[in-house]
Amino acid sequence: MSRQKPDLSIQGNGRGDDLIVVKDLVKYFPIRGGVLKKVVDWVQAVDGVSFTVRRGETLGLVGESGCGKTTVGRTMLRLLEPTSGIVEINGTNVYDLDRRQIKTMRRKMQIIFQDPYASLNPRKPIGDSIMAGLQIHKIGNRAEQVEIMHDLLEKVGMKPYHSHRFPHEFSGGQRQRIGIARALALQPDFIICDEPVSALDVSIQSQVLNLLKDLQEDFHLTYLFIAHDLSVIEHISDRVAVMYLGKIVEMAPREEYFGNPLHFYTQALMSAIPVANPKSRRERIILKGEVPTPINPPSGCRFHPRCWRAVDQCRVEVPPFEEFKPGHWVACWRAGE
Ligand code: ADP
Ligand code: MG
Repeated sequence: MSRQKPDLSIQGNGRGDDLIVVKDLVKYFPIRGGVLKKVVDWVQAVDGVSFTVRRGETLGLVGESGCGKTTVGRTMLRLLEPTSGIVEINGTNVYDLDRRQIKTMRRKMQIIFQDPYASLNPRKPIGDSIMAGLQIHKIGNRAEQVEIMHDLLEKVGMKPYHSHRFPHEFSGGQRQRIGIARALALQPDFIICDEPVSALDVSIQSQVLNLLKDLQEDFHLTYLFIAHDLSVIEHISDRVAVMYLGKIVEMAPREEYFGNPLHFYTQALMSAIPVANPKSRRERIILKGEVPTPINPPSGCRFHPRCWRAVDQCRVEVPPFEEFKPGHWVACWRAGE
């Protein structure tokens, strides 16, 4: 069994097919206290996360609420400044860029939020929100911008006459389509989808997921798709990365991940997915306790207090994130046992 060190060099595994390379990303939030508002502690929201996203693929990032997924996404786009680490798009470290360059970078890297209200101004007709990026970047004249906007609305399954309406006049699914149109306006290469279907009814979820898949093909998009729901991740991802308390604990191609999960956390998450065929029902694993706080994360493997397979080593030593078999990475002392 091969246990090599991760090769997360600038070129991204030397294959040159990585659009995004994230290396040792750390984001701590200060907790201030006392009259002097001194920093008394840190929330270790993201603590040494590394992954790559290949051109044209969807990397699914999954984990329970509070494990740091949104912080990874926002820090990658410099909506938050990192504590340390590197994020490259096309070989350029986004943390090396000045303000003007960041503006250019934002054209190439977009984000879709769980709640499209976050990107749609409630007092503006939705057409104006979709065109806002074109105006900021001075792309085309007014007539051309309107034409692009109408075209985008049709691409996401809406109609040009919708452009005069306001966000509250639409359903949740339609608002998410508008949010997607807005993200596409500047012809990005890479889109971070942060729980884009988590607030939608299950019937609407698959429509929006299928739309995202179609658009990915039409526009050669690369996605980082964040979700807490493994069935959504299974539907959309080419590869899967699992976060637990600020760290990635497992990463593998979708079929391998769902077929041969190695981390016990993953196995617990999967045991909770309802399966259609009752004969193949997996044994349900009930996790002990709540997710601990990222302020004082557990020693050793952060999952050890909830792990039914933990041994003394797990309580003391941090397991390295290693390639257990080709393409399948895991941080667990007991993986494969
Ligand atoms: P997820 O998206 O996986 O639910 P988040 O990235 O939103 O997780 O949050 C990770 C951790 O960081 C949580 O414990 C959260 O409370 C904390 N956190 C997020 N944003 C801030 C902030 N601005 N200040 C302090 N703590 C934060
Ligand atoms: Mg989140």
